[in-house]
Amino acid sequence: MTAQLIDGVALSKKIRAEVAGRAARLTARGVRPGLAVVLVGDNPASQVYVRNKVKACEENGLHSVLEKYDAGLSEAELLARIGALNDDPAIHGILVQLPLPPHIDAHKVIEAISPAKDVDGFHVGSAGALMVGQPGFRPCTPYGCMKMLESIGCNPKGKHAVVIGRSNIVGKPMAMLLLQASATVTVCHSATPDLAFHTRQADIVVAAVGKRNVLTADMVKPGAVVIDVGMNRNDEGKLCGDVDFDGVKEVAGWITPVPGGVGPMTITMLLVNTIESAERAAG
Ligand code: NAP
Repeated sequence: MTAQLIDGVALSKKIRAEVAGRAARLTARGVRPGLAVVLVGDNPASQVYVRNKVKACEENGLHSVLEKYDAGLSEAELLARIGALNDDPAIHGILVQLPLPPHIDAHKVIEAISPAKDVDGFHVGSAGALMVGQPGFRPCTPYGCMKMLESIGCNPKGKHAVVIGRSNIVGKPMAMLLLQASATVTVCHSATPDLAFHTRQADIVVAAVGKRNVLTADMVKPGAVVIDVGMNRNDEGKLCGDVDFDGVKEVAGWITPVPGGVGPMTITMLLVNTIESAERAAG
């Protein structure tokens, strides 16, 4: 069997067109949705990420402000900037690009963002809201994975989902979203003794590890939906995921490619969260 592809680029295009429509309607009412992206230091990967986020805003009718600071910015100065953005009515979403330089406590900075503008969904208040099933911003990558499942008509209810990875930004919120959707969820991590034992039982596998070939064909139940969040480089330096794509596509029912899978969805869901924030602010 050859799996069907879940095309993150095509799905993103569709969702971004909806975002652009909502942004135009809000702007016509005098509220232009605005995202502030804060970058401290000159990490090359972070520079690419923030550029892509700002570009996606511009292409879809959102206003974006990129605040770039050199690595010497103090924690107090950054907290003061976050305070000012919290109070700025033209800004509906605030994103602080991680990692921050080591002298700045990232946790403290994230907690300083108003939960009403926490479009990355990393604030403890947002994580708590997800945990107890209250409205709030969902972290963009797992939110995007849920949209991918929805796009292929895969309702997690009653299914067994295995999430590989338990980070605060991907694995844990992914597990919570699947649980909220009534899947039976298993979370695996580096101390899981027999990963294949779990993944072989899964109707849905989400791999969010950051290591190549964590999931191979022999570890997948025929027909399963496989979502690959990982971003790695292969021996030729090309972008690849955590999943052995060539092997697994022969067993799975559905699979996301890397690149062109979860990656574009992450930025798309950032736009969705920002629009939602602006709509709430506009009443
Ligand atoms: P992370 O914080 O490093 O977490 C990795 C998780 O994988 C940890 O929970 C770790 O377990 C687990 N793990 C490590 N080795 C394992 C193994 N051999 N078997 C099972 N579990 C293992 O990474 P992250 O931030 O969640 O990101 C994960 C990957 O997704 C990275 O490649 C990242 O670049 C990518 N990513 C992509 C997007 C996107 O938009 N496409 C967005 C975010 C992240 P322990 O907790 O026990 O250490």
